[in-house]
Amino acid sequence: MLILSTDRRTNGPTDRRTNGPTGKKVLPPLTQGLPALVDGAFQYGLSDINLPKIPTQPIGYDDALQILKIMGGKPVPNALHIGDWKGGLNITYRFGPGFNSANVHKKLRLVVNNVMKTKIIYNVIGILDGSVEEDRYVILGNHRDAWGLGAMDAASGTTALLEVARLFGRIHSDTDWRPRRTVVFASWTGEEMGLIGSTEWVEEHIHLLSQKAVAYINVDTCIKGPFLSPDASPTLMAILREVTQYISFRNTTLLNEWIKHQDQISGVVKILGSGSDQAAFAFFAGIPAINIMFKFDKKKYPISGYPAYHTGYETLYLVNKFIDPDFSLHKTCTQLLGVLLHAISGSILLPYRIDELANRVLIDYKYIYKMNANHEKFGAKYDIYGDNKPLIDMLEKSLAAFVSAANDWTEMIRHLDINNPLLVRRANDAMMGVERAFIRPEGLHERPEIKNLLYAPFKYNKYSTVVFPGMLDLMRQISITQRGDVSKVPQLRQSLRRHISDIAIALRSATNLLNTHPL
Ligand SMILES: [Zn+2]
Repeated sequence: MLILSTDRRTNGPTDRRTNGPTGKKVLPPLTQGLPALVDGAFQYGLSDINLPKIPTQPIGYDDALQILKIMGGKPVPNALHIGDWKGGLNITYRFGPGFNSANVHKKLRLVVNNVMKTKIIYNVIGILDGSVEEDRYVILGNHRDAWGLGAMDAASGTTALLEVARLFGRIHSDTDWRPRRTVVFASWTGEEMGLIGSTEWVEEHIHLLSQKAVAYINVDTCIKGPFLSPDASPTLMAILREVTQYISFRNTTLLNEWIKHQDQISGVVKILGSGSDQAAFAFFAGIPAINIMFKFDKKKYPISGYPAYHTGYETLYLVNKFIDPDFSLHKTCTQLLGVLLHAISGSILLPYRIDELANRVLIDYKYIYKMNANHEKFGAKYDIYGDNKPLIDMLEKSLAAFVSAANDWTEMIRHLDINNPLLVRRANDAMMGVERAFIRPEGLHERPEIKNLLYAPFKYNKYSTVVFPGMLDLMRQISITQRGDVSKVPQLRQSLRRHISDIAIALRSATNLLNTHPL
């Protein structure tokens, strides 16, 4: 049995419950890679799949204290190479096994009231057809399920989704206005159980979306604090920056406030992560995506998540009293989503910046693979240059050609005749193909659900999105396997060589899309 507890240092409520690894981010297990349909389509049975067998129960730190304070064994030293094992409770932390001599007879009994149930879940989808390009979609999505009352996760985003939908609907009914492209409003469910609603929807509509979806905008917990901290596909970062200029915020623009506080967050816009419903769109289907969020001040509160996260304390009272008393942050979140949706669905040329995508990939490639692959964050202690020089040369040449084609492209479409609808459509189609060129149908090594060769979370640190994730995964896996079952290393090296080659070929395909398009 595995018992997880919160820690006092996170400042969370004592009875805070977090959802353990048994609950979250396990992709729909009975229909991996297939849509879950209710009309009799194939599904695996519970006995066909490997669900985790170890019962896991999260508890609050008040309860954990009763266990930890009577643990036996050696005290935990101050620093360990595996990180800091000491929490913030005022006790001597001990390794065990078992309890100390005074309590050696004690036993723990845990009553778990979980039940296994198969249920039908419902996404709610609203569509406003486009006036010019009805067959191009911009999707705005948010999940409405929650662990408790969910006033922040995800109701702070749900309010924004509903308000933007109401606004678009109202303008349409009052004036007959329609956006240029079709907008889709999606209310997902099952997010907290493993992104189930959105993943199933993408799996069900994969061909339609692959051909026709222009962008996915996600909002989950929009308001965790006062500082804008979005993550996005590099293709969409420019439009994100642009629209923040038009939103007034604290006597200036949202853009100015964002730039002012960026150092408190990350310095640059993060490349899209996987923690919410954007994952299937970006990493399964290759659709450029944005995730909008306002964070708390990490300098002032150096904790990983906001204290009430996933607890019964996520109430309207909390939001009203402490988080956003005048609801101005909620208003700004709504404005940002609305303006962003309006801009992406309305602009004649898609507001993509292929050059920004290519250059960001180049910068991150140099940062990770030339400088930091060995860093403990990545831990890929593997000499990729020594072992695979010709392949790496090919990859770097392909990357350089992609960057150059992307820069030329951006220059060229500046002069495009936007009154020529056929040219515009051709340019837009070529740009839409670029991120899709990196979708590898069989997925990354041992991660079939991640098909994006270009960027995705690193397998060994899901909070860190990296470029060429499959390459870093394999480098790390080889360096781990070299210290263990060495007989598996040749196979992994082979997979890595294939993977590097796949990336180079994808880079060339993307380059061809830009170079050969007859504009
Ligand atoms: Zn959420």
